[in-house]
Amino acid sequence: MKIHILQIPDEGLFLEGDEPADLINWPDFTPSGPVRYRVEATYRGGNLLVRGQLRLEGTVPCARCLHPLPVSVEVADFTALVEQPEGECVDLTEQVREDILLALPAYVRCELDASQRCPITGQQWGDLAGERPASIQSDVWSALDKLGKREKEKD
Ligand SMILES: [Zn+2]
Repeated sequence: MKIHILQIPDEGLFLEGDEPADLINWPDFTPSGPVRYRVEATYRGGNLLVRGQLRLEGTVPCARCLHPLPVSVEVADFTALVEQPEGECVDLTEQVREDILLALPAYVRCELDASQRCPITGQQWGDLAGERPASIQSDVWSALDKLGKREKEKD
């Protein structure tokens, strides 16, 4: 996303457009369209401020069955401040890239049906398989239980 400072009037400039999605190079994310942006640029006192929204559609493999699942990545409060930029054109591509990478979902899974079956592969998943947060929690509780028993044995 390149901003031409000299084109920004005193009241600010609304910018809307697309950037090619190949700037998002992430192994688990496959873009299905361009990066869309709607931002407002202001240039005051020699500083460029760009604020607005970024959107990108794509797919991420399910953490259980690896089937690609559609995800919509949205950066609702994109903000870039460039103090005293050199030249009349500022390239914000790197800031756009970083904010979108941070907004990518870390853990995507298809929704299991009532019998804990994956709707895509039909594979059945028990309560513990693939439910890592739950098993970590139960480990913590069993560790606490053991501690509690030890405390009691001392008494
Ligand atoms: Zn799945």
